[in-house]
Amino acid sequence: MEKRELVIIGAGPAGMAAAIYGRRAGLDVLLLERGATGGQINTTEEIENWPGVQHTTGPELGNMFRDHALKFNTEIRPVDVKKIELRGGAKVVVTDKGEIEADAIVVATGAYFRRLGCPGEAEHIGQGVSYCAVCDGAFFEDEEVAVVGGGNTAVEEGDYLTKFASKVYIVHRRDEFRADRAAIERALANPKIVPVWNSVVEKIEGDGAVEKIVLKNVKTNEISDLPVAGVFMFVGQAPYDECVKGLVKATKEGWILTNEDMETSVEGIFAAGDVRSKHLRQVVTAASDGAVAAMGASAYINEQLHLRSVLLEPESVTAFFYTSIDANQAHLSNEAEKLAKARGKKLPIIDGYKNSRMIEKLDVSSRLPAFVELRSGAVAKVTPVASEADVAKVLA
Ligand SMILES: Cc1cc2nc3c(=O)[nH]c(=O)nc-3n(C[C@H](O)[C@H](O)[C@H](O)COP(=O)(O)OP(=O)(O)OC[C@H]3O[C@@H](n4cnc5c(N)ncnc54)[C@H](O)[C@@H]3O)c2cc1C
Repeated sequence: MEKRELVIIGAGPAGMAAAIYGRRAGLDVLLLERGATGGQINTTEEIENWPGVQHTTGPELGNMFRDHALKFNTEIRPVDVKKIELRGGAKVVVTDKGEIEADAIVVATGAYFRRLGCPGEAEHIGQGVSYCAVCDGAFFEDEEVAVVGGGNTAVEEGDYLTKFASKVYIVHRRDEFRADRAAIERALANPKIVPVWNSVVEKIEGDGAVEKIVLKNVKTNEISDLPVAGVFMFVGQAPYDECVKGLVKATKEGWILTNEDMETSVEGIFAAGDVRSKHLRQVVTAASDGAVAAMGASAYINEQLHLRSVLLEPESVTAFFYTSIDANQAHLSNEAEKLAKARGKKLPIIDGYKNSRMIEKLDVSSRLPAFVELRSGAVAKVTPVASEADVAKVLA
């Protein structure tokens, strides 16, 4: 089976940033993408919040990311990742064109906005139809816009849009919002917000850009026109999480849970970008996640390689385990190193603070500082020590 150091799934901003950081850290990187490189930004003509670039289109920015990743010799492969499997400790990426074993994986598969599905929606994406107030709100300064939806996102983003728009209609199929009470109260107290109850969007019209939406009242069946320059759809967003479903911990909606180092619940599998459970899904946050994930993956791979060769591969080895955040343990590790050297003994010194996964794996974290004897990767004997005399006795 093909074996690679770092496999990144998804060539959007998160995956590309991970590739750039991974390659610059000297890793062998394989970037897998099932569609066009660039990710979601390919569907927008206006990007004005990527620092240093005052205005660009999504496809242009996506191309710049791809060229940057290619400059560092990233291999980008067009495949659809079906799943990640753990086989006897190995991480295997299963694609529609074969399997790849990876030392570490960054899942950067992104997310998608649910479409409303009415006539005129698809044709006007980027021409007044938007799914992101933070991305596109500023393009509607002093214009009237509509928001579609009645949950928290619709109500909160509607409120946010009043910073720019002169009026924000919130079109909802029921006669009350489903959002938190505080969000509803704030929105209804905002004079620029006008709820349009019991209504659904029948179609979106406009020659080029959006000019109006056609509404149907679900109680009376009455059809009416609402002239607006923009329609913001907040009928839901969902992660592309199929390849890790059931493998890593996630919210009930499927957003992957990570810590701030982008580590998922499975060792060596990282997640970055919109697929994560997070507050702000934007290019800048996706790229940032990608960088953090790649550096985490690099540290993980180095740690694994080094520890594997020193601790797990030899037939028999004794190592000294300690934690560097404890001054006494650090002192004893120095003593052990000095004594072993003086007596011509090989003694790997392992800092459990920096190699927490390994000490957890060997189940010695509660017994440090200690000499740990390993036979073919399995713990054979643990000798905890408390003083210089204990250290000297073991190394006698
Ligand atoms: C219309 C629109 C306008 C936007 N405007 C802005 C803006 O102005 N500014 C801003 O900062 N953000 C904007 N965003 C948000 C921004 O695009 C996202 O936050 C960002 O793209 C997330 O990056 P990502 O790499 O996490 O995911 P994505 O960009 O979603 O990339 C994920 C990639 O993974 C691939 N993938 C998924 N599953 C698989 C699989 N199983 N196998 C292989 N490949 C897979 C996908 O094809 C995709 O290319 C906008 C989004 C949209 C939709």
